[in-house]
Amino acid sequence: MHDDKDYDAHGGAESGDEGTARGSEGRLEVRPGVTSPGSTAPSFQRKSRRDMSIDEHVEGILAGDRVVLGKTITLIESLKPEHNRKALEVMERILPHTGNSIRVGITGVPGVGKSSFIEALGSSLTSRGHHIAVLAIDPSSQRSSGSIMGDKTRMEKLSVDPAAFIRPSPSAGSLGGVARKTREAMLVCEAAGFDVIFVETVGVGQSETMVHSMVDFFLLLMLAGAGDALQGIKRGIMELADAVAINKADGDNVDNAARARAEYEMALHLMHYPIPDWSPPVLTCSAYRRTGIDEIWQKVQDFRAVMTDNGWLQKKRREQALAWMRDSISQSLQDRFRTHDAVAELLPVLERAVSSGELPPLLAAQRLLEAFFEEEISTL
Ligand code: GDP
Repeated sequence: MHDDKDYDAHGGAESGDEGTARGSEGRLEVRPGVTSPGSTAPSFQRKSRRDMSIDEHVEGILAGDRVVLGKTITLIESLKPEHNRKALEVMERILPHTGNSIRVGITGVPGVGKSSFIEALGSSLTSRGHHIAVLAIDPSSQRSSGSIMGDKTRMEKLSVDPAAFIRPSPSAGSLGGVARKTREAMLVCEAAGFDVIFVETVGVGQSETMVHSMVDFFLLLMLAGAGDALQGIKRGIMELADAVAINKADGDNVDNAARARAEYEMALHLMHYPIPDWSPPVLTCSAYRRTGIDEIWQKVQDFRAVMTDNGWLQKKRREQALAWMRDSISQSLQDRFRTHDAVAELLPVLERAVSSGELPPLLAAQRLLEAFFEEEISTL
């Protein structure tokens, strides 16, 4: 995982970004002795040699110091219990400064144009004074085969934009664990002053549901003429979308995109959309030509205005916070369970017995839980 060494290696962009307006402003205010805001500041070198204190984390985050921001996310992503404990204390301290962003989830199959879209929309937003953070959840990066999202050069302009912060998906831990860490990273970014957070995920598997559960607005990117089956988009995912955008509506593809738009409008009409006062719009855009992008952003803003007025957004965030707490409990219990010595020894044996039909599943579960709790369990 990302320890400090790892951070130094892969966080090059972040340390390079350090001399950016926000980062250097924050540091220059608190450390007037730093004379060269454009270079990798001595403060970073000093910090990387020893662990930062909780106060340093909190102060750095609140000052918008990107290096501290990166290091705090590294702390959050760490699998070491002592790092987790420290991260929790930092989280508690920054909590009053969170919640002031609009959180947008973006999903779609690989190749649909997610990173190009975020690059186009993100640049448009930063040019209008917004500060944007891009976080990713990539289920493929949990496997050793490498990542669907990570290995190409993504978002070239945004990655050097001082008003943007891009963080790739953590590459270790279960998907649930990664989602939890991404939620925390999102709050840290908010406390650091980012007012638009994009959480991006590949549209395969459960990761969309997770992203949906942590954002205000969920955008599904699609392609014209590829067919739902080919795009691997399940009906359930379409039902989660607050807007659908058909990307690559350019060149010869403009008519196809318009047709696809009409088809998806029909399809969405027949689906059950659960949120009051809103019908998910279907739009077309070209991340490449940068057309239709601002219209999509307008929908995000319309949505936010409606949902703030009718109280739904507050309610959703409250529910999300509770769900997050419950998820954290079950995730943590599962982690403790799996790593418990007696359970770890017994689990493979009992799994074999259950799969070969020698042992009833409930009895196996009971034995494992008894091994974990070290006491008899009468009912499951
Ligand atoms: P991702 O895997 O969903 O992040 O997709 P990318 O943003 O990496 O885009 C995949 C490919 O589609 C790249 O070759 C892009 O240049 C191309 N692409 C992305 N957006 C558009 C678009 O609006 N129009 C066209 N013609 N190509 C695009």
